Amino acid sequence: MSWDNTTLFSDDNADDLAFRREVRQWIARNCPADLINRPDRVNPPEMKPWHRKLHERGWIAPHWPREYGGMGATLKQQIILYEEINRAGAPTPFQHGLNLAGPIIMQAGTAEQKARHLPGILSGDMVWCQGYSETGAGSDLASLKTRAVLEGDHFIVNGHKIWTTNGPWADWMFALVRTDTEGPRQAGISMLLIDMKSPGITVQPIRNIAGQAEFAQEFFDNVRVPRENLVGTLNGGWKLANIVLGNERFTTGSPRAAALRLNKAREVARVSGAIGDPAFRQQLAQMEIELLAFSAFYHHGASLAAAGKAPVSMGPVMKVFGGDLSHRAAELVMQAAGTLGPEMQRIRLADGEHDVAGDLFASRISVVGGGTTEIQKNIISKRVLDLP
Ligand SMILES: Cc1cc2nc3c(=O)[nH]c(=O)nc-3n(C[C@H](O)[C@H](O)[C@H](O)COP(=O)(O)OP(=O)(O)OC[C@H]3O[C@@H](n4cnc5c(N)ncnc54)[C@H](O)[C@@H]3O)c2cc1C
Repeated sequence: MSWDNTTLFSDDNADDLAFRREVRQWIARNCPADLINRPDRVNPPEMKPWHRKLHERGWIAPHWPREYGGMGATLKQQIILYEEINRAGAPTPFQHGLNLAGPIIMQAGTAEQKARHLPGILSGDMVWCQGYSETGAGSDLASLKTRAVLEGDHFIVNGHKIWTTNGPWADWMFALVRTDTEGPRQAGISMLLIDMKSPGITVQPIRNIAGQAEFAQEFFDNVRVPRENLVGTLNGGWKLANIVLGNERFTTGSPRAAALRLNKAREVARVSGAIGDPAFRQQLAQMEIELLAFSAFYHHGASLAAAGKAPVSMGPVMKVFGGDLSHRAAELVMQAAGTLGPEMQRIRLADGEHDVAGDLFASRISVVGGGTTEIQKNIISKRVLDLP
């Protein structure tokens, strides 16, 4: 196999090697061809057939315990599965249900919530979105104002959410709402599971900087949410919100995105001729070394997280480093493509087309979504370094 940044560690034992081979062959046979190496965003309706295939094979949730329908995979198997998905250029199924809503429901949800929601997350039949951000409550999330007032058996929700990834297609939202206005801001927040087909919700799609439908904003006008859709305790949502954010930051920080982009930088440089430039090769090598070191650190972090020993700094550190590396890798692809002029919008590579500018825009996701880099640095400086 030629040099490939997505499979940097090949120290598999015999079982892991057999698993890798099986996954590789299965993906080649089962991933829909039109999803491989897509230069544009794959939206939930297009993702569903691939999600279902992984579900039928039992591989959709390698990190979920078996009792909830997951694969209960070893850490190494989880890494292999995602490495092989990336190596093939197949999309990674959306994380909002599998990595965010599902785990928090498993951790803090009632038996009824688990029975009702986990199967649909696994099968991909239910698309989930995360309703945290509002205008005026992004970095300063605790200032959120969407109000939920308990009246009998229902919360009455009024307010507005924005930047909701997959909002245009979502069936369910796990949302942070204000249930108390008196005490400290963080102590008046609850987490609700909201059926997006409830009367009173208006969803307006928003296009991202690359012109692709990705987000939505939602207006809640006297939306009735059954009391049993509260996750955890009333006014106990802030703690849950931060558990979810920790998972999100860790996942967003994964070196996978940077690895894929550095592979692209190499390929694009071959097409443009930049690969013949020693200065470019040096930059590429420098970033590949950073990637190698960061991947080793990330694997270590994943094993700490699996053992329940991850420090509070883990999510922010991974997100800052992984996000920055991924963004710089996208800039390197742009640099590699520089001489191609307008052609760079759809460069033909051996394994499909690549939209260099679109991917550079997409790489910004990792430095804003889930909390900006500045905010992660604030968290590290306050909670880890004890700075004022
Ligand atoms: C691709 C993408 C996907 C997203 N998906 C979702 C989603 O599914 N659900 C959801 O709820 N939200 C989502 N978001 C929203 C995201 O969480 C917010 O954009 C992010 O938290 C920043 O908030 P903001 O946009 O309001 O920016 P602001 O908070 O207004 O920040 C503007 C700038 O000021 C800086 N800044 C603000 N406060 C400080 C400070 N105290 N110290 C230093 N610098 C500061 C920020 O770093 C930033 O550069 C998504 C965003 C993106 C880009």
